[in-house]
Amino acid sequence: MTRRLFWEDAYAKEFDATVNSVDGNQVVLDQTAFNPRGGGLLGDIGTLSGVKVTDTIKAGEDTIAHVLETPSTFAPGKPVHGVLDWDRRHRIMRMHTSAHLLSAIFHKQTGALITGNQIEPDKSRIDFSLDDFDREKMLVYCSQANEAITMNPPVKTYFMKREEALKIPGITKLASVMPPDVKELRIVEIEGYDLQADGGVHVKNLGEVGKIEPMKLENKGKSNRRMYFTIP
Ligand SMILES: [Zn+2]
Repeated sequence: MTRRLFWEDAYAKEFDATVNSVDGNQVVLDQTAFNPRGGGLLGDIGTLSGVKVTDTIKAGEDTIAHVLETPSTFAPGKPVHGVLDWDRRHRIMRMHTSAHLLSAIFHKQTGALITGNQIEPDKSRIDFSLDDFDREKMLVYCSQANEAITMNPPVKTYFMKREEALKIPGITKLASVMPPDVKELRIVEIEGYDLQADGGVHVKNLGEVGKIEPMKLENKGKSNRRMYFTIP
């Protein structure tokens, strides 16, 4: 099991850890600040004791593997120092919180469910299941999101008993993905706007997003709409 330092402090840019196991170019540590790929988010990149990490992945339910550029020379038990590519990761956090906010507003206004998302540092997209395709309305929802950002509510994360969490309306806006089968769900709350079961990394205050800029709206079939957006 890998201790998720990014759940305790999403702003940890460096950390010390001990190597647990090595498999080819994949290294598992006792703890890490690198967020693994999943839930539409890219895995973090950076370095482990100066060696490039090109991706971070889940190697099991509670195990996180760092994918190195070269086969690992780290031995189990060895201490390492991890450094994140923080500029990239911080943009992913800002994009991710933006995606939650947009999803919440679209869901509230239209009842749309989220059928997919891809969070990247430069450009992100959300897929909605929505019969109506009205660009004007979508742009209105984006400006409502930007109004919420100027209110700067806190973004809080905490754990809740699964059965309690599942009673909250809209706790999962994903059409296909059910929260993991665990006793406690991690909740991400944009105070006053959204509550969502989620394992990813977010900013602490919504104002940190700055501004959401819609880029492109696409009609992806009968009731599938795709929106691309960015943050300056
Ligand atoms: Zn999320």
